[in-house]
Amino acid sequence: MQESGLFIRLNFGIPKAFGQLFGCFAWLTPTALLGMNDAYFMLQALAEAEKALEADEIPIGAVVVFEKQIIGRGYNQTEQLRDVTAHAEMLALTAAANHLGNKYLADCTLYVTIEPCVMCAGASYWAQLKAVVFGADEPKVGFRRHGQLLHPRTQLRGGVQAAECAALMQEFFSLKRK
Ligand SMILES: [Zn+2]
Repeated sequence: MQESGLFIRLNFGIPKAFGQLFGCFAWLTPTALLGMNDAYFMLQALAEAEKALEADEIPIGAVVVFEKQIIGRGYNQTEQLRDVTAHAEMLALTAAANHLGNKYLADCTLYVTIEPCVMCAGASYWAQLKAVVFGADEPKVGFRRHGQLLHPRTQLRGGVQAAECAALMQEFFSLKRK
């Protein structure tokens, strides 16, 4: 009985130790290399976008960051949820508001892989975000062609990891054409 107890402990103990080790490196490496900057968080948004790609959704991902911590994640789920409002940004903003218990996200930054649409720019206006950071431009349905829709206090940065963000979209649409 002792042996099986030991086996069970090891069986659970080893993967957990590996997980912690790996988790530690996974967290430390990009942080050390990228200094917790826009590129680091855009990679996290890209990881969300990949979840959308796997689910056969247009691959857009988003994260909301507060005090260098991700407090909301989302990826486009309009097909799965049959909901035109289920954009990555909307889901990430809702998750962040739930996390903070506050509809205003004045000290938060939204990272999204593709330039937001007018709906998501509007949502970020109401949330009074500190900053919106996007990856690739979206000339057709991006909000910028409609003017300045963000809250006056919200900073805007674009073109972060743009090539990677755009490549995911191209992959999706080239698969669709086949
Ligand atoms: Zn949107």
